[in-house]
Amino acid sequence: MMNESEVIRSNFVRQIIDKDLANGKHSKVRTRFPPEPNGYLHIGHAKSICLNFGIAQDYDGECNLRFDDTNPEKEDIKYVESIKNDLNWLGFRWSGDIRYSSDYFDKFYEYAIELINKDLAYVDELNPEKIREYRGTLSKPGKPSPYRSRSIKENLSLFEKMRLGGFKEGEACLRAKIDMSSSFIVMRDPVLYRIRFVKHHQTGDRWCIYPMYDFTHCISDALEGITHSICTLEFQDNRRLYDWVLDNITIACQPNQYEFSRLNLEYTVMSKRKLNQLISEKLVEGWDDPRMPTISGLRRRGFTPGSIREFCKRIGVTKQENMIEFTALESCVRNDLNESALRVMAVLNPVKIIIQNYDEDKVEMLSMSNHPCKAEMGFRRVPFSREIWIERDDFREEASKQYKRLVLGQEVRLRGAYIVRAESIEKDNQGNITTIYCSYDVNTLGKKPVDKRKVKGVIHWVSVGQALSAKICLYDHLFTVSNPSTFNNFSKVINPKSLIKIQGFVEPSLITAKPEQSFQFERIGYFCIDSKTSNPKALVFNRTVALRDSWSKIQDYQ
Ligand code: ATP
Ligand code: MG
Repeated sequence: MMNESEVIRSNFVRQIIDKDLANGKHSKVRTRFPPEPNGYLHIGHAKSICLNFGIAQDYDGECNLRFDDTNPEKEDIKYVESIKNDLNWLGFRWSGDIRYSSDYFDKFYEYAIELINKDLAYVDELNPEKIREYRGTLSKPGKPSPYRSRSIKENLSLFEKMRLGGFKEGEACLRAKIDMSSSFIVMRDPVLYRIRFVKHHQTGDRWCIYPMYDFTHCISDALEGITHSICTLEFQDNRRLYDWVLDNITIACQPNQYEFSRLNLEYTVMSKRKLNQLISEKLVEGWDDPRMPTISGLRRRGFTPGSIREFCKRIGVTKQENMIEFTALESCVRNDLNESALRVMAVLNPVKIIIQNYDEDKVEMLSMSNHPCKAEMGFRRVPFSREIWIERDDFREEASKQYKRLVLGQEVRLRGAYIVRAESIEKDNQGNITTIYCSYDVNTLGKKPVDKRKVKGVIHWVSVGQALSAKICLYDHLFTVSNPSTFNNFSKVINPKSLIKIQGFVEPSLITAKPEQSFQFERIGYFCIDSKTSNPKALVFNRTVALRDSWSKIQDYQ
């Protein structure tokens, strides 16, 4: 019997691979991840990455990283760098050198000439608008361009003229000669090459004609010996063109394309165009804003590579359209951080307590465990003194029995320290509590009261004298609606509370916190240092995710 994780991992693509290996169609699996360097990777890409690299890992195969770089005006070397970086951080290693579609520009050109020589491609001088018009629609067949029946010789010389810069942009293009009345619009003489006088980040000014995706992708796959070319469902119709190109050129390898459904995640937009729009409209700080669903944003927010991989495993791979709940992602990071995050104390909305019967100059260094279930994670020393910050929410003047925190005239345990009783309070002119005066029971450090009286509540705290002030960024969904992609005007559906900055206090051990090190602020949530803006003199923490059950969990008195 398969265990649960194996059941989750199997999917229709893996079943196809199992069959291809069993019947000897392939002896080794080779996949590829083909990002276009026109933006940062997002969690949708992670789904594709985990699928392609995961297959290579599990079947002892290889996965190539290939930049699909045939649109020089939209692409940039900075995106190449960020994509490499994000892939490494996610924990995947590509096979051999990084590849670029542009590595094969000479080959594509030769194959285009082969198609022309077979009378399967022609130079069209209709302008882009006319081409669109002639192409027809789903209900109306296309009609042939007047340039469709040019001689092979003429096509060869015009294609050469295109390459040499003899046409302006949009004056000519190379098209496949397939079928203008096909029920698949992609097969109605698709454009294979267009003219662009743009410098390319890899090939400079060498080319002014650039191949289109459909011509590039299949040939690149074949040249690299890809066995299973896995892409998202919007390319389903393009599979016909993928196969047509490979069937009509002289090339040894015949990869197969398989399509799966894209990841859609509630409260996020996923396409790079829309993410770019958020940046250009200044609705977020940039690609790595911790509210962005980008890998770099999630990373800065405190998500771990393991939690993202686990998420991709749990959502599975199918052909069904889907919208994944955001809580599915949160639950993965919570599970992961619950294991690995050091426990510390921080007070986000402070009110002061003064323990009147505690010595004024005394500071006790209490030893507290870094993880409740993992002794190997060790202990740290936490100062305790007469003046303590606690959460404003953790005190009430009056409360019912359900309220297990500090109430005037009653007792509560300060986590890892003593039991205190609230004796009296002081308020300012507006009636806000400024100080809670308490007494403490000296015999309750790490043990129950001598008279066995029951004190149920436990609250966290930070000693005033040693506390570090810290800026704390509380993140929420970037959008107020779960399906923001259906809105064009994002500013209407942006959540004004998606980022709330507050000033709080954290225990002094956090002075050594490193970027990407995660902490559980006890009873509050998981936090990490903001890698961009924090420094030891002005700490900034990002909330990765709140604790599921923020107030009720802590029962023990330690
Ligand atoms: P976008 O629409 O975000 O610009 P894209 O598909 O144009 O995405 P590419 O850089 O071309 O982006 O994508 C690289 C690979 O990642 C492709 O194989 C693509 O199918 C896959 N991919 C992109 N978005 C998703 C998604 N939301 N879910 C799953 N796979 C995705
Ligand atoms: Mg794209």
